[in-house]
Amino acid sequence: MLDKLTDSGESGASISNNIVKLAEIVMSSSSIVAFTGAGISTESGIPDYRGPGGVWERQAPPTIGDFLENEATRREFWAARRDRYAELLSKRPNQGHAALVALERSGRLSAVITQNIDGLHQAAGNSPDKVIELHGTTHLIQCADCGSEWSGKAIQERLDAGEDVPTCENCGGILRSGTILFGEPLPRVALDRALAAARTCDLMLVIGSSLIVNPAAQIPLLAKRAGARLAIINRLSTPLDGYADVHIVGEAGPTLADIAKGL
Ligand code: NAD
Ligand code: ZN
Repeated sequence: MLDKLTDSGESGASISNNIVKLAEIVMSSSSIVAFTGAGISTESGIPDYRGPGGVWERQAPPTIGDFLENEATRREFWAARRDRYAELLSKRPNQGHAALVALERSGRLSAVITQNIDGLHQAAGNSPDKVIELHGTTHLIQCADCGSEWSGKAIQERLDAGEDVPTCENCGGILRSGTILFGEPLPRVALDRALAAARTCDLMLVIGSSLIVNPAAQIPLLAKRAGARLAIINRLSTPLDGYADVHIVGEAGPTLADIAKGL
């Protein structure tokens, strides 16, 4: 009997063979870097960017110029953020995040490079110093003028109390999210750490990233060119699948949970 084919044409048998292969690669690696995108958090109920119901469909983020220049843009941003952040605070890490914590406890994980801004790797239990947030974090709010910082929750309280465009309590400047907006470069320190981790790992494990957003998508390629093995887990195909030593078309959480069982 033929195995059921997935959308990409892979059979169930070849997927489980690939999980066994990935588990073997994990067990023979000692410096693993996980590279995660929005796909690791969809099973926590946080939609990815471009998929159906994704953030992109609901409200495309503003450019940095538009945000800093226009109070109307900031008013719209904070109104949307008030709802979105309240929702985010109710989300919990899933079995995929937990598997990366198990990988860290096994001593094999050197870093998690993430495009996510949701803080779920740290919430799951990965050490904050191992998590490199390429696009920043939504749990931090900064003054664009003097650099003062507040927690997301502190600003949420001000929004809930009726402020529509909160400003800096120290200098009156513009407050902004700790996530990068369109038109901004990646944070230098995070990018440098990510590049160093990619150059020195022996396995680059890409999970739930469409790998179409640059320069972040170049990081797995850098690791591969520096000699690491490359594994990709995604429910769809990605532009880097042809470079992967193992490529699993499937759901991130159950796949990672299977891998973690062998640790
Ligand atoms: P993306 O939305 O472009 O891609 C997500 C990828 O994950 C897709 O390729 C999709 O096929 C795959 N996917 C979704 N659910 C999956 C699952 N359960 N198992 C396996 N694969 C799954 O996201 P991106 O590539 O991470 O880049 C978009 C940007 O959007 C990011 O830079 C990030 O800043 C931002 N974003 C972050 C969050 C978050 O923090 N959770 C959520 C949405 C968007
Ligand atoms: Zn300030």
